[in-house]
Amino acid sequence: MRTQVAIIGSGPSGLLLGQLLTQAGIDNVIIDRVSKDYILRRVRAGVLEEGMVSLLERAGAGTRMHAEGLPHEGISLAFDGRDHRIDLFALTNKRVMVYGQTEVTHDLMDRREAEGRRTIYEAEDVVPHDFDGNGPFLTYQKDGQTHRIDCDFIAGCDGYHGVSRKSPPTSALTTFERVYPFGWLGILADVPPVSHELIYANHPRGFALCSMRSPTRSRYYIQCALEERIEDWSDDRFYEELRRRLPEEQAEALVTGPSFEKSIAPLRSFVAEPMRFGRLFLVGDAAHIVPPTGAKGLNLAASDVHYLFEGLQEFYAESSQAGVDAYSERALKRVWKAVRFSWSMTMMLHRFPDTGAFGQKIQEAELDYLVHSKAASTALAENYVGLPY
Ligand SMILES: Cc1cc2nc3c(=O)[nH]c(=O)nc-3n(C[C@H](O)[C@H](O)[C@H](O)COP(=O)(O)OP(=O)(O)OC[C@H]3O[C@@H](n4cnc5c(N)ncnc54)[C@H](O)[C@@H]3O)c2cc1C
Repeated sequence: MRTQVAIIGSGPSGLLLGQLLTQAGIDNVIIDRVSKDYILRRVRAGVLEEGMVSLLERAGAGTRMHAEGLPHEGISLAFDGRDHRIDLFALTNKRVMVYGQTEVTHDLMDRREAEGRRTIYEAEDVVPHDFDGNGPFLTYQKDGQTHRIDCDFIAGCDGYHGVSRKSPPTSALTTFERVYPFGWLGILADVPPVSHELIYANHPRGFALCSMRSPTRSRYYIQCALEERIEDWSDDRFYEELRRRLPEEQAEALVTGPSFEKSIAPLRSFVAEPMRFGRLFLVGDAAHIVPPTGAKGLNLAASDVHYLFEGLQEFYAESSQAGVDAYSERALKRVWKAVRFSWSMTMMLHRFPDTGAFGQKIQEAELDYLVHSKAASTALAENYVGLPY
């Protein structure tokens, strides 16, 4: 088989890139190691920056998002027993859209199918070859046979555990990492959210986040020790702990109900540089991971796609290599700003082993400054709604 761009990974970055390329008349094939149903069962991010919303519109996959998504104009920071609203819209003239990653993936898959574009699911042993030269290709196993896809470029959109980042020699790659000494215990439940906007809570017992997927579906998280076991956390225990970490008014307003998803996610910051090796590009989680505190993981995947799509479009439409050559540098500039923001939100809101009473007071002072200084609130709001591409 031959295509112009072979995309490894049918997550949000692979699907979005595939759809933008298709709209621009550039042929592409997506290949994933798991099934479509498996991908659609994954519950992950849910806050979209305006840049990502525009890309989904451009990809022809924005209709349901605009009908069912929830535009938000603010967030709350809760600390010292009170709730303080940051008016994102007043400070930046921008909103964020609350719309689940699962729905984004669903919409992009539907578009792809409607356009008749090929996705190969349940492909084993996907391997990129010869990306240092002008004739890269992929091999994979399916139905007991080895298959080959020849292409001009390979987009490695295969997430943190994918094959793409492992393909160049290790000496060609520099990695940067910070692992945080706690995780997030999260639940999804069909109960109305405690507030119509997200609440990020700093509490001496640990961080908590009240988020949502719709007016009837809530996504709640509490900071927990990495050694915690899901089995030890009944829904009642989870809600009781969440209540303790919220201001009184929100704790009283919390509606509880059975969860249908419960998991513990570790938190890390990770960046691999560069994001291009000849004709192989790393995109999204394949190149970087951020803690979810700033709601940036999915949005960074979208900005990488934007830069790569521009480069590839320039290559095919204008026979210019410039955009492709600039991809890694342009993407990494924005990546590091989001890594910094997610790290700073994590540091300010969580209880670390050495936080202690002094650290708690410092965090509260920082939060108090943040909510009462227009300059500081604007800096937070600007980063939260997303820096320009
Ligand atoms: C549990 C969890 C919770 C998260 N919560 C948030 C959140 O609240 N907010 C936020 O902003 N971000 C969150 N994120 C991050 C966000 O979900 C990711 O940034 C986003 O999924 C990145 O998209 P991607 O397409 O780059 O990678 P992925 O979504 O990981 O997609 C990669 C795809 O590649 C496929 N693949 C992997 N290896 C291979 C291979 N060898 N061959 C072929 N295919 C392969 C995978 O099956 C997958 O379909 C969360 C992530 C996780 C894991």
